[in-house]
Amino acid sequence: MSLAQLWQLQQLELAREKETRQLNKQFLKELSKEKEKLLARQEELKQARIQLEKLVKQHKRQGRDLEELEAKKRDLSEELYSGRVANPKELSHLEEQVQAVEAKLQTMLEEYLELEEKVASMENNIQVQHNNLAKDMNNYNMKAREAKGNWQAAKDRIEILNGQIEEVAAQIDPSLLAQYRRLQQRLGISVLAKVQAGVCGGCGIKLPSLFCQQIKQGETIKCENCGRLLVIS
Ligand SMILES: [Zn+2]
Repeated sequence: MSLAQLWQLQQLELAREKETRQLNKQFLKELSKEKEKLLARQEELKQARIQLEKLVKQHKRQGRDLEELEAKKRDLSEELYSGRVANPKELSHLEEQVQAVEAKLQTMLEEYLELEEKVASMENNIQVQHNNLAKDMNNYNMKAREAKGNWQAAKDRIEILNGQIEEVAAQIDPSLLAQYRRLQQRLGISVLAKVQAGVCGGCGIKLPSLFCQQIKQGETIKCENCGRLLVIS
């Protein structure tokens, strides 16, 4: 009778071991690594946005400088063609000034357009990265929720198994239970083996036919090969 309960105890302990393995699976650690990577991407994106903001400000500044220079050119041209200046030396000086401003305008305009292109491409890049990150974050959150749910469920099952193990163990003859625990220290959880068709279920060796007789009579018999306690099913 006690052996049957011992067998039940072993089955419960095996089930608990399986759940515990599930609980300690590597994937929770992998999940936290994935989160770290996502946070790093988030930080990168933040830095890119700061950079973009600086460029946008610089672009606006260039625009204002361009307008100022355009105004200056207008003023100089007006002066040049107003007829107010008659002195040839002054006129040629004015002409030179207009040309200098025009040349500067050209350079500035090129820089302005170049920066405009850079800003547009950066904006586009950030948008793409933002969308990708949002998608990956979403996936991660779903996975994390599921993993957490699985983890909790396994924990709950272990809790239930612990209660059942305690209950069954309390019904077993203490000296038999102590023997079982001692054997477990050496052999792991599975210290009971069923005899099936005269063969030890633990190691597969053929058992003397006398053993079955003795077990049926209530004797505690160990497999001579693997040392497990034999149980008749
Ligand atoms: Zn055996």
